[in-house]
Amino acid sequence: VKRGIKMKGLKKNVLKWFDKDRKTAELSLQIWNNPELAMQEEKSSQILCDWLHDEGFQVNKGIAGMPTAFLGTFGSKSPVIAFLAEYDSLPGCSNKVLPRRQPIIERGPGHGCGHNLIGAGNTASAISLKNEMEKLGISGSIRVYGAPAEELLVGKVFMAKQGLFDDCDAVLTSHPAWENAANANANLSLISTEFTFFGQSSHAPLAPESGRNALDAVQLANVAANMRQKNMARGTVIEYVISEGGHQPNMVPDISKVWYFVRHPEVDLVKDSYIRLLDLVRGAAIATGTTWKEQFITGCYGYLPNESLGKLIFDNARIIGAPVFSKQEKQFATMIRKNYGLSEIENPFHEDLRFKKGGLEMDSQDDGDVSWICPLGRINYAFPIGIPFHSWGFTAVSGSSIGQKGMMFSARTLAATAADLLTHPDLLKDIKKEHEKRTKRFRYVSLLPNQTKPITKEFMKLHTKTQC
Ligand SMILES: [Zn+2]
Repeated sequence: VKRGIKMKGLKKNVLKWFDKDRKTAELSLQIWNNPELAMQEEKSSQILCDWLHDEGFQVNKGIAGMPTAFLGTFGSKSPVIAFLAEYDSLPGCSNKVLPRRQPIIERGPGHGCGHNLIGAGNTASAISLKNEMEKLGISGSIRVYGAPAEELLVGKVFMAKQGLFDDCDAVLTSHPAWENAANANANLSLISTEFTFFGQSSHAPLAPESGRNALDAVQLANVAANMRQKNMARGTVIEYVISEGGHQPNMVPDISKVWYFVRHPEVDLVKDSYIRLLDLVRGAAIATGTTWKEQFITGCYGYLPNESLGKLIFDNARIIGAPVFSKQEKQFATMIRKNYGLSEIENPFHEDLRFKKGGLEMDSQDDGDVSWICPLGRINYAFPIGIPFHSWGFTAVSGSSIGQKGMMFSARTLAATAADLLTHPDLLKDIKKEHEKRTKRFRYVSLLPNQTKPITKEFMKLHTKTQC
């Protein structure tokens, strides 16, 4: 145990709270059993709101213009320590808790990113703190930000733009990954935007000259984007889906939509590539005689690391100890890996603890914005190595005892970390000093153009063929 942190007072009490806790596991499975897509998380957010309300938090629902977003607060004094809750699932990821592909509902949604664990686990940390702070008379504020549509990088970006994180002293969160690690590294900034091309429908062979093909415009834009990507800043990633093609082959498609993600570690280079992308879209429209409009969906920053906070989380993770998996759990993990065509390895789990700093993760998270506003700390926990995120295997593990062990490890670690922050002002001071240093010449400006509205559940219904 480093830095003279001793197990006493609030930290000891908080960890004891977890020994009696059964609710976290129960609610995480409730959310898993009722997977809801982005902006449709009505039951999932309600489960967490009810829990917070029952435990004495003040709960405001529908914040930042999103019906399934909420803010749970306790206390009014400083410091303000916040936790992030997520609870959205992914289309097509439905699966039973089995080491093979077997959907519960064919093409149905599933927790293919483990957000059922993040929602329940991070909320549990907040509740444990609130209860034990009250008993010990320790002052400070605890918050839970219930953030919808994380999978589409939406919820926290809109909260951040509204300034909802401006008075936080530290924000803590967790995520399943392929290893147990306290994180102080960067990831990718992102812009998500959709273009609709408008053409003219016509009987394709009978009256070709009257047609203007919107799908051709989409395809041209995509070909151009794939070509141009090679001459964008190194490391630029462009992904897209054709969200609408057309009706049937003998009708020239008069409306087609393409939805792009543009990513790069540097936010300015994402903006730059986005401007290039607009050129390509314009060019595709000119070439096909179509018109177009844009729906800007979201944009988020990559993570700003905070090593002081990462180190504190790491120290606490070592006190808690990494999850230990049983023989059956290892067999389960080995089977899933096999079913993804991954080669056999001695241990399908990372069972160590790491402190990751200075690296780059090839993902984006919508709390990237938060990390530039105030110090953000993250703990990851081990899922079987190599099992793809956003896929059926991740859903299976998120509903299994493996997921539960990781969630409880992260919930305890973050609660213990927050206990340190509340009782050791010097630690929080160092963390804030590092954040100030890293943001010295930086002013947070949201990537969302003014007037951008969060996507709605209707958007999701149109864009996923998933039954929710
Ligand atoms: Zn996720």
